[in-house]
Amino acid sequence: MMLDLESVEQEKLIRQALSYGHKFVRYGKPADYIPELAKKDPSKLGVAVCDLNGNMMTAGDCDEQFTMQSIAKVMSLILAIEQNGFEYVFTKVGMEPTGDAFNSMVRLESLIKKKPFNPMINAGAIAVASCIRGSSLEERQRCCVEFARKLTGNPKLDVDYEVFRSEKETGHKNRAIINLMKANGIIDGDVEPHLDLYFTICSLSANCRDMAFFAAVLANNGVNPNTKEQLIPLRVVKLVRSLMVTCGMYDYSGEYAATVGMPSKSGVGGGIIAAPIGKCGIAAYGPALDEKGNSVGGLKIMEFLSEKMDLHMF
Ligand code: GLU
Repeated sequence: MMLDLESVEQEKLIRQALSYGHKFVRYGKPADYIPELAKKDPSKLGVAVCDLNGNMMTAGDCDEQFTMQSIAKVMSLILAIEQNGFEYVFTKVGMEPTGDAFNSMVRLESLIKKKPFNPMINAGAIAVASCIRGSSLEERQRCCVEFARKLTGNPKLDVDYEVFRSEKETGHKNRAIINLMKANGIIDGDVEPHLDLYFTICSLSANCRDMAFFAAVLANNGVNPNTKEQLIPLRVVKLVRSLMVTCGMYDYSGEYAATVGMPSKSGVGGGIIAAPIGKCGIAAYGPALDEKGNSVGGLKIMEFLSEKMDLHMF
């Protein structure tokens, strides 16, 4: 059944989810391998739920800006498929979960085909970013920003250039990953512009409302909840939701799929989106992360809402 955000009961549940999440934020800390992210206040926590008619309900720090980080990997995958077709993109990347950390590169060396496992880990997302077309880096960057604006329904959405710079200066591991993939024949052309595009995508800045809207588009089979425009083809939505289930929550994806049961994606900026199919879009933000890179407060919010609103897909 579709969620009805008019009800007082739903509003109460969202507020309860937030206070439940608050109890756990002290067990996490912001990502510090990107120096700019380490400056975030770990006590922040917010949540937004968007129903399939575009009604929004929020609680806590839902207007706080954060960088999408890995959540944007979902958007860049959709864009790369739109521009190149499904078959081409999946010559560069696979669809299998790894069970490894998001920035791991061990399997890149040992694989026979040397293709990164899936588009949700860094290696896979960098390979996907290399497929995004345009005559220059600037045009490709603009195209990604425009696409993110369309999918979030926010025409003002932009890049956080401080975070972009911070990632570019310190992204040695991502640089190693792309060079290894270049040596393996996965990456065409110069590596640096592809890496810059990847950092741009990760540094897209949003709040819980923007992210809940995007999640609602995914939950709504690719249709904009307000305008009813088909933004993403159904076949592509089904594919990305599946990859979110199997690979969206880092090396916690299996347990999360079993216990929370919603197609979800998290990012080291502290955001998590969830797209319970045919129900609503949910976004949580809390920069205090656990050791796998998931927002501790955000995880608890998703757990709570899945149970209380009966959103588990099985
Ligand atoms: N920009 C981050 C990185 O490349 C993204 C990681 C994430 O959110 O999982 O390390």
